[in-house]
Amino acid sequence: MSTAGDAVVRCVAAIAAAIEADRDWLTELDSAIGDADHGGNMARGWAAAAAAVGELDEPTPETVIKQTGRTLMAEVGGAAGPLYGGSLLFASAELADGLTTETAVAFAETYLEKLTDRGGARLGDATMVDAVTPAVHALRAAIEVDGATPVAALAAAVTAARRGMAATVGLRASKGRASYLGWRSVGHQDPGATSTVIICETILEVLADELDEPVPSVPAVTVHDPDA
Ligand code: ADP
Ligand code: MG
Repeated sequence: MSTAGDAVVRCVAAIAAAIEADRDWLTELDSAIGDADHGGNMARGWAAAAAAVGELDEPTPETVIKQTGRTLMAEVGGAAGPLYGGSLLFASAELADGLTTETAVAFAETYLEKLTDRGGARLGDATMVDAVTPAVHALRAAIEVDGATPVAALAAAVTAARRGMAATVGLRASKGRASYLGWRSVGHQDPGATSTVIICETILEVLADELDEPVPSVPAVTVHDPDA
C-alpha cells in the first residue's frame, strides 16, 4: 500500500483519465443546455492537476488536494473551474491531520458548504450540487450511523450521487448557463452533476484498489433520454 499522499496523487491521475474517457459525453450534455465546453474544460483542468500533483515532493492528502484546487481554478474556464477548484482548495484544510474516515467526512461537508456558498445553488436547482448534496449526506450517514467501512460508505455516496444526477433530468435549471433556457432545460441531465458522479466513482475504484477490496456493485440509475 502506498502512503496516503501517494494514493491521493494516484486518485487525481485516475480522475483525469476517467474524465478524458467521458469527455465527449460531458461535451454532448453541455451542448444541449449550455455552451459545449464542460468536457474540454474538465479534461484540460484535471490533466493539468494530475501533472502538477505528480511534481510534488512528499505529497500529503492536504497538499495534493490544495494543488488540485489551485490548478483547476487556474486552468478551467467557465463556472465549473472556480466551483470545483475553489471548493477543493478550501476543503483541503480539513485533511491537515491526514486522511481518516473522520477527516474525509469533514472534507466532504466543507466541500459542499463552500460549493453552495460560492455558487449560490441549492438542492433542486439542477446543478452539480444535486449530486454532491446526497453524496455527502449518504457518506456521513454510512459512517456515523451505520458504521460502514470506508469502501461501503463511499459506495453509498456514489449511489446517492447517481440518483441526484438522474434527478436533474426532471428539474428546471435555476443556476448557471442552463437556467437561461427556463423550462426548456427540463429533460436534460446536468453536465456538472455528471462529472461529479464520474469523480465519485473513480475515488471509489481507487480506494477499493488501495485497500485491496473488490469494488462493490453500485446500482445503475435509469436516466430518461428525451431523444430516445
Ligand atoms: P459554463 O457553464 O460556464 O460553461 P461548465 O460548462 O464547465 O461552465 O460547467 C457547467 C456546470 O457548472 C453546470 O452543469 C452546473 O453543474 C455547474 N454550475 C453552473 N453554475 C453553478 C452554480 N451557480 N452552482 C453550482 N453549480 C453550477
Ligand atoms: Mg459550459
